[in-house]
Amino acid sequence: MHAEIEKEIRQVINNKRRVLTNEADLASYSYDASFGVFPPDVVVQPTSTNEVVGIVKVANKHKTPIYPRGKGTSLSGGPLPVHGGIVLDFSKWTDTLIIEPDDLVAIVSPGVITADINKMANKFGLMYPPDPSSSHVSTIGGNLSENAGGPRGLKYGVTKDYVLGLEVVTADGEVIQTGGRTVKNVTGYDLTKLIVGSEGTLGIITKAILQLIPKPQSTGTLMVLFDDLFIAGKAISSILTGGILPSKLEIMDQASVVAVEQFDPLGLPTDIEALLLIELDGHPAAIEAEAKRVKEICLEIGAIKVKTAETKEEEAELWKARKLVSPAIVRKKPTKISEDATVPRSRIPEMFQRLKEIRDKYNIDLVVFGHAGDGNLHPNIIADKRNIEEMKRVEKAVEEIFKAALEMGGTLSGEHGIGMMKTPFMEMELGTTGLYMMKRIKEAWDPHNLLNPGKMFPDPGQRFALTNE
Ligand SMILES: Cc1cc2nc3c(=O)[nH]c(=O)nc-3n(C[C@H](O)[C@H](O)[C@H](O)COP(=O)(O)OP(=O)(O)OC[C@H]3O[C@@H](n4cnc5c(N)ncnc54)[C@H](O)[C@@H]3O)c2cc1C
Repeated sequence: MHAEIEKEIRQVINNKRRVLTNEADLASYSYDASFGVFPPDVVVQPTSTNEVVGIVKVANKHKTPIYPRGKGTSLSGGPLPVHGGIVLDFSKWTDTLIIEPDDLVAIVSPGVITADINKMANKFGLMYPPDPSSSHVSTIGGNLSENAGGPRGLKYGVTKDYVLGLEVVTADGEVIQTGGRTVKNVTGYDLTKLIVGSEGTLGIITKAILQLIPKPQSTGTLMVLFDDLFIAGKAISSILTGGILPSKLEIMDQASVVAVEQFDPLGLPTDIEALLLIELDGHPAAIEAEAKRVKEICLEIGAIKVKTAETKEEEAELWKARKLVSPAIVRKKPTKISEDATVPRSRIPEMFQRLKEIRDKYNIDLVVFGHAGDGNLHPNIIADKRNIEEMKRVEKAVEEIFKAALEMGGTLSGEHGIGMMKTPFMEMELGTTGLYMMKRIKEAWDPHNLLNPGKMFPDPGQRFALTNE
């Protein structure tokens, strides 16, 4: 890094422990939970809006890229410093987590761990609904920027549905407030929603006002087993059209169940084709009636077994299977490519069929699990990145997964964002004009392309690659 830039950064952040330049530190910020290694020139750990403003001004003066980063759990390459420059690591900025129960809001600084918001809200009988599976490790800044979802998305929506207002540092170092702390706010363009999901490409989030809701009184869980994946997919729509909106409706295919059983035997049958895990929430009497109805619907459509958790311990035990999928599948091979192609719910059975065909065609290890209730499947490919020939097959398979989702009226990403990984496919979903309109927003907000460059928008001719060949 240019010595002058480093000197100016150190004038903004006068605590030298929050400016990292040694090789080992830079290496630890060169990756996230996806793919690829890109070391930055410097890592800065701001803990105030003024510090962020100061750093953005330095970056502007020297036209150096800035990469905001929460905890680096992105599965799409979101925080990777693909062109070097400055990583702004927000994980140390955790000082504000205020619940204002009378307004049902939480006010948070960007580095706060998402699960901590929900934990704190619970103390007031409230809930912060967005619950990415990574909520105990990811930051609210990262969740806002990726518009993260989670199992509860089916009933409660995703991060954008709970953001009332933001404080944002713009690309030229100005501070703006968007939205506010009222539930209704229709003044002008909805800049809050524009920033949420913009993946750090339009502005840097330094504060958020989040909406909370009353915590449901109780939950109940069912596990439903199927010997036909297609019927499991059909059961999802039947439950919803049967008048029941579960808080979670997750699916695991046979390969996921087998992987879990090999990792930590829970006694799940491995000869089934799919398993649904269903959580209901609300008044205990309503849960009891709804659980009975869900059981009837599933058995009518062809489920082979329905197990209802009788105690909180049994409930936790049933969810353990879902929690173990990720650690279980990486035992097989070290490289996990985790996709989140999402389809309309009526097309879930067909998507399963297409995924099976893609698995056979490219001879890859593919497991499918995810938030099936909202069509957000997670096809995960397990491979070994040292095996170039295998990675070439994986590249083709991933491309075909996206094509299949789009052909069915779906989308490239339900919750993981575009980041670096999916940029080559953006035009396929948005069309030339759709992508161009997004690019014009980017150019208006960040004319020098300093905020998280190399993300969301493909370079001319850029193709999807998991290898260097
Ligand atoms: C095991 C596992 C399970 C997961 N489960 C889910 C899931 O269920 N649902 C889901 O949606 N995701 C999931 N993810 C993906 C990931 O956790 C989310 O995308 C999360 O929102 C990223 O948060 P982070 O703090 O790690 O952000 P990072 O990965 O560090 O950054 C993510 C993006 O946010 C930007 N950013 C970070 N902070 C700011 C800021 N203050 N201002 C502007 N931009 C910023 C970065 O530039 C980047 O583009 C999972 C990941 C793992 C590893």
